[in-house]
Amino acid sequence: MTATEAPPAPNKIAWQVAQVEAVVTETSRVKSLVLQPAHWAGHRPGQHVDIRLTADDGYQAERSYSIASAPEDKLLTLTVERVDDGEVSPYLLDELRVGDPLEFRGPIGGHFVWTRGLGGPICLIAGGTGITPLMAMLRHRERSPGGIPALLLYSARSLADVVYREELDATARRDNDFRLIYALTRQQPDHWTGHRGRIDKTLLADHCFPPAQNPMFYICGPTAFVENVSSLLVDLDFNPLSIKTERFGPSGG
Ligand SMILES: Cc1cc2nc3c(=O)[nH]c(=O)nc-3n(C[C@H](O)[C@H](O)[C@H](O)COP(=O)(O)OP(=O)(O)OC[C@H]3O[C@@H](n4cnc5c(N)ncnc54)[C@H](O)[C@@H]3O)c2cc1C
Repeated sequence: MTATEAPPAPNKIAWQVAQVEAVVTETSRVKSLVLQPAHWAGHRPGQHVDIRLTADDGYQAERSYSIASAPEDKLLTLTVERVDDGEVSPYLLDELRVGDPLEFRGPIGGHFVWTRGLGGPICLIAGGTGITPLMAMLRHRERSPGGIPALLLYSARSLADVVYREELDATARRDNDFRLIYALTRQQPDHWTGHRGRIDKTLLADHCFPPAQNPMFYICGPTAFVENVSSLLVDLDFNPLSIKTERFGPSGG
């Protein structure tokens, strides 16, 4: 290459088409899309894909969605929450049908990733649909030999808004190395003995593995949620370098 030649273009991830194999209703506002990509070289838990919709007049909209399935799964699962005035999420929830093609590219992202080789303990902290990439990590952990100690702190508006609740509760019942804590911010069932309100410093101090055990943190959810929980952890003397974050959007959720 001479000094005047342009550097090589970055290796762009190509767009491809997946077929929708199933649409699963998770809650009143959330559905999972189970996709069969034409070609898939695999992903690491925590990565996401970009979805691209193209209107008849050529207008295109792209959004990112975390992968909820484990790398061991044959099909790719995305879990999408409705943003009422949104451009893309209402289409994915209301219009997309089994058998439809869906344009996407991925996997994308290398920072917010956990694989069994990284070991534990791991503290996963989700706000709303921020559970999605953490679910990929938990599903991958489930298929890993030996119990890697894990905590999931999951903040949802109500129990009815908890995505993957049956699967999470079942894992918590059978796996002594997995602790599951729900924080219900808006509505709690009668006789609810769990946490009421947002995730706070006391809840984190009571349930996270202690700093001496060097836990790895993965926090995902609305921007304000992620920033708040991260700064509480730093206040609690956890190593900032052990805290990885993924922000889904602008809302305070
Ligand atoms: C790395 C990454 C991974 C993501 N993974 C997921 C996922 O697994 N599941 C999922 O449901 N979403 C996920 N998101 C969010 C997703 O990309 C879209 O932003 C979301 O679906 C809204 O898109 P929309 O076109 O429906 O709304 P838009 O048309 O983009 O926005 C409409 C209105 O809603 C507000 N808004 C935009 N995004 C959000 C949001 N996330 N929460 C609340 N308000 C918002 C906008 O400010 C605007 O006022 C992820 C985002 C990123 C960056």
